[in-house]
Amino acid sequence: MSMIEVKVPDIGDFSDVPVIELFVKVGDSIKAEDAIATLESDKATMDVPSSATGIIKEVRVALGDRVAEGKVLIVVETSDAVAAAAPAAAAPARWRPRSAATAAPTAASHAGAADVEYDIVVLGAGPGGYSAAFRAADLGLKAAIIERYATLGGVCLNVGCIPSKALLHVAEVIDEASHVSTAGISFAKPSVDVDALRAHKDKVVGKLTGGLAGMAKGRKVDVIRGYGHFLDPNHIEVEETTGTSQEKTGANKVVKFKQCIIAAGSAAVHLPFIPRDPRIVDSTGALELPTFGAAKDAGHRRRHHRPRNGHRLFHPRRPRRRGGNDGRPDAGPRP
Ligand SMILES: Cc1cc2nc3c(=O)[nH]c(=O)nc-3n(C[C@H](O)[C@H](O)[C@H](O)COP(=O)(O)OP(=O)(O)OC[C@H]3O[C@@H](n4cnc5c(N)ncnc54)[C@H](O)[C@@H]3O)c2cc1C
Repeated sequence: MSMIEVKVPDIGDFSDVPVIELFVKVGDSIKAEDAIATLESDKATMDVPSSATGIIKEVRVALGDRVAEGKVLIVVETSDAVAAAAPAAAAPARWRPRSAATAAPTAASHAGAADVEYDIVVLGAGPGGYSAAFRAADLGLKAAIIERYATLGGVCLNVGCIPSKALLHVAEVIDEASHVSTAGISFAKPSVDVDALRAHKDKVVGKLTGGLAGMAKGRKVDVIRGYGHFLDPNHIEVEETTGTSQEKTGANKVVKFKQCIIAAGSAAVHLPFIPRDPRIVDSTGALELPTFGAAKDAGHRRRHHRPRNGHRLFHPRRPRRRGGNDGRPDAGPRP
């Protein structure tokens, strides 16, 4: 067995460069060319590769340390046979421009025709989207809203503020009724009919989302149902959706616009360390009012019938792998 010190190689004219990522720890096995750390200068980043193969016995840098050529990064225990066969030095590390990692995507160009044309298109019919579209129409612009779900109002009206308030109001009444006993008025313990409560909440939601649809019509704002994605800076393709969720019908429409407002909202994420379990719900799941006895059924419903404007769970970006150029999302985030 031999111990090999792996040092910062020739990094050009830089002598005091911070370590911004560290991919190794004591006990890891490492191969020659695996990245040990990323260094960052004003304008560029560089992955420093290992020149040795074996087990890491010491890590002599920490995140944020500033290093220069010759600084020992790790000590690797390597078998004599591997040491004898190892190349004299790792391939030289090279700086790459910082902007390369974050280069802005180049816009595509749509050469085909458009089915409809607007002064302004708003992607997303939540409170941000519908109010912007209504205002644009009030100012005299020809406006449309693109929304993938059946009803307007986004998270707030469908699975956020409004259903929460409907349930909170009921909870408040129950709470007040119990407290009024101090004034000599007593009620029997309430019995809760969950199905009726759910229907009450859905009725409140339906009234408000229906009202929004009427307001859009009154202002001549077109509502285009479907999942929109950009073709270029002036065209969105809308994949038509149907039903209470976002099943695609297969029909597409190209919408041309002079200006666009993206009001696509947000989505709940599934935290990778939390198990998939029907008893663990996001806010949309909670507002469906699943009962604990029926948790299994509720989980089944959630998977197969996502609610209107449901917060879809998705995986956040995966952590970067050692030596890696990873960072791809596990699954496409909700736009
Ligand atoms: C449980 C809960 C309670 C809340 N309570 C309150 C409260 O009391 N008060 C408060 O101020 N806020 C509250 N909020 C927050 C509020 O709901 C949000 O701030 C608000 O909905 C954001 O509006 P938005 O228009 O930005 O986005 P959203 O409401 O998320 O709307 C975005 C819309 O865009 C659509 N969309 C996205 N991508 C596409 C696409 N590619 N094609 C077509 N359509 C697309 C979505 O389907 C969605 O309808 C609550 C949120 C939750 C979850």
